Amino acid sequence: MEVSAPLRLDLDGDALVANWRTMAAMSGSAACGAAVKADGYGLGAAAVVPRLAAAGCRDFFCATWAEAIALAPHGVPVAVLHGVRAADMDVALALPAARPVLNTPAQVRRWREAGGGACDVMVDTGMNRLGLAAEDVAAGLLDGLTIDVLMSHLACADEDVPANARQLGALLALRDRVPARRLSLANSAGVALGPDYHFDLTRPGIALYGGVVRPELAGVRQVAYPSAEVLQRRTVRAGESVGYNATWTATCDTEVVLINFGYADGYGCGFSNRGTARFGDTALPVLGRVSMDLTALDASDVPSLGEGDWVTIDFDLIAAAAASGRSPYELLTGLGDRFERRWR
Ligand SMILES: *Cc1c(COP(=O)(O)O)cnc(C)c1O
Repeated sequence: MEVSAPLRLDLDGDALVANWRTMAAMSGSAACGAAVKADGYGLGAAAVVPRLAAAGCRDFFCATWAEAIALAPHGVPVAVLHGVRAADMDVALALPAARPVLNTPAQVRRWREAGGGACDVMVDTGMNRLGLAAEDVAAGLLDGLTIDVLMSHLACADEDVPANARQLGALLALRDRVPARRLSLANSAGVALGPDYHFDLTRPGIALYGGVVRPELAGVRQVAYPSAEVLQRRTVRAGESVGYNATWTATCDTEVVLINFGYADGYGCGFSNRGTARFGDTALPVLGRVSMDLTALDASDVPSLGEGDWVTIDFDLIAAAAASGRSPYELLTGLGDRFERRWR
């Protein structure tokens, strides 16, 4: 049996591709890849990957081997950022288009002993997240491996801080020591730091999906547009309150609509009394606390809005992040699976 969903995620495929072309142009002579981990940042990797592959993207990045398996039907080269655990080895050796990004000496040993083919390597240059110590790499840990991409990851590329140049310098210092075919450093924000950071391959993620994480990325367009159906319209009398813990109280009689959209769908409690939706051009402010599956909106300015109508949630990532206190990354990857996802 099937039933239509009372909430939708409209996805702008043209904007996705345009954003990749923007990042590719900003990457200059470097190839431009795409981070598609966490199911394409919540939008659906199965729809994202073929669109970007058709546009010319040849380097995709996911986090786990379960994600690599899901991408295998697309036949595109995939680098698995978390490397290979012992439990991943069978899959890692069997998937022809996927290669691990080795992060630890144990992973390097495991890959070498299994006679795995080409791999990528992550070296830590100061973030202290995943990656090999630069000293281990300089001491010859990787000797004899066939390395496609030697990469590192910037911790603060969305800020103008000295750490960026320090990380750049640390990668440059290893350049001649490691016989990698290609070097890679920049995520989305890193691309905006300029040509010194581009090397052979860039790895944008959030900018492809609409995240303007630095002012230089202002040309990036919104991709994901959530909307939800109105389930009820009611009048809240002056002095009455709305929602859990009564955090909003009407100062005058107020027209309120309840939409089928809540924190279980990714509309976090940070939007309580702060978010907005839209019907046509009219803004509908969120009233009271966001519930698990419901949100109340002030519909006083739209007498015609009622049960069965659809409203669009304001989801420009920078504005929504500022309103809710969550990052653009959390906003996208938090979008739940109750939406009907519609690509156009
Ligand atoms: C997620 C990730 C990216 C993409 O980062 P954005 O900030 O989304 O552009 C690139 N490289 C690595 C190693 C990542 O983990």
